[in-house]
Amino acid sequence: MTEVPTHRAQLDCEVAIVGGGPAGLMAAQRLAQAGVRVHLFDAMPSVGRKFLLAGKGGLNLTHSEPADAFAGRFGARQTQIEPMLEGFGADQVKAWAAALGIETFVGTSGRVFPVGMKAAPLLRAWLVQLRGLGVQFHTRHRWLGWDEAGALRFATRAGEVPAGETLVRARALVLALGGASWPQLGSDGAWAPWLQARGVQLAPLQPANCGFDVLNVAPGSAETRREFLRELVGLEAAPARGWTPHFQQRFAGQPLKSVGLSFTDSQGQAFARRGEFVVTETGIEGSLVYAASQWLRDAIAAQGHATLHLDLLPEHDAQRVDAEVRHPRGSRSLSSHLKSRLGIDGVKMGLLHEVLGRDGVNDPQALAAAIKALPLTLVAARPVAEAISTAGGVAFEALDSKGMLQAIPGVFCAGEMLDWEAPTGGYLLTACLASGVQVADGVRQFLGEAVKG
Ligand SMILES: Cc1cc2nc3c(=O)[nH]c(=O)nc-3n(C[C@H](O)[C@H](O)[C@H](O)COP(=O)(O)OP(=O)(O)OC[C@H]3O[C@@H](n4cnc5c(N)ncnc54)[C@H](O)[C@@H]3O)c2cc1C
Repeated sequence: MTEVPTHRAQLDCEVAIVGGGPAGLMAAQRLAQAGVRVHLFDAMPSVGRKFLLAGKGGLNLTHSEPADAFAGRFGARQTQIEPMLEGFGADQVKAWAAALGIETFVGTSGRVFPVGMKAAPLLRAWLVQLRGLGVQFHTRHRWLGWDEAGALRFATRAGEVPAGETLVRARALVLALGGASWPQLGSDGAWAPWLQARGVQLAPLQPANCGFDVLNVAPGSAETRREFLRELVGLEAAPARGWTPHFQQRFAGQPLKSVGLSFTDSQGQAFARRGEFVVTETGIEGSLVYAASQWLRDAIAAQGHATLHLDLLPEHDAQRVDAEVRHPRGSRSLSSHLKSRLGIDGVKMGLLHEVLGRDGVNDPQALAAAIKALPLTLVAARPVAEAISTAGGVAFEALDSKGMLQAIPGVFCAGEMLDWEAPTGGYLLTACLASGVQVADGVRQFLGEAVKG
């Protein structure tokens, strides 16, 4: 049975902000502090849900590295993000948290966290501040685009039940709708076609800081892999993905700690870093994989696959590994030999078997080489819904220098819905907050000019 909206309401406001994530809340704060009357709408029953989820990982608010290195994390979008960070960078993020009663500290990696490593106290204090400043919250209001007369359409809910539709007219509008990752928390990317229909240039939404599916080549001898890769380019059907059932059952969910990951793309750009990641049901994910994910994703998009190399023993040089592998093992099994001479066991040993197959692990030269550079071929990024963040979105070319859409004067965009991406490390939240500050300035300027005009 279709549920019919029970009523239509109307609301006129000075500034409407749609999206109560960090970008929208920061825009609301800045505008309200300047005396602007703000109405903030969000589809969910409460705001800041992804911010709260980020708190589960300790809430990495920002990073302590020098400003130019920080801005460099935004890659091709450094030029557009850097001016925002000059207005509101790492120091301002720390000061903002402190003003809400939350002190921060710099972790060993240079990342900055709130002392309690939780998002809830910060969000609570922030919402108290915003309500005190007069920001009016309208939760359970899902924006549906514009009606023919240019009013904003919101589907409203009373609890879990559709309640009707509210039409909102605003002198200025801030869209801070987030990307398309973790849609269950509110950001689903549904806005993309509505903006496109109004002439706004968008880059396709894609997963960023994401996991990958591996190519399934069983049995995994090096020659099978090479043959398979030669054929892959010409394959019409998608290549088989995932681990062998044996490997998946034994090792899915297990972490690989202190490994090196290297990857060189077709342009010769090289990524090499140490860290850790996790074996999943169908591939790999986790911080080290996320760090390389932009290059891996783009290589898969261009060539259908990307082969990275894992150094399973980054503390040991190749000569030492070779010598230990070849060391006479008497009656001991290969597994106990590798465990006692090199400390390789568990998931690392499983990976060697998975990729090299029985023949490969019994060939000392191939085995020693693979321990230092194990090839792992990836064939698909995991869907954006599972990713930490979203690449793509509203193109900067569609915006003026204050984040206003050239195609729709008076409408501003902020946060992760813009076409930028960055690794994890506090860069995402910082840029979202900074763009909230930027659009708030833009809205004030726009309203001021409207008054003058
Ligand atoms: C597991 C996880 C951990 C993370 N950890 C960190 C971290 O430690 N550090 C870091 O820097 N970043 C982290 N991030 C990323 C960070 O949380 C996001 O980049 C940030 O929340 C984006 O802010 P935003 O305001 O642009 O969008 P969002 O936070 O996504 O907020 C958008 C809001 O818009 C609302 N909305 C969307 N569509 C509609 C609509 N049609 N109508 C009404 N409302 C709508 C949503 O309900 C939502 O409340 C993490 C992300 C994930 C998934």
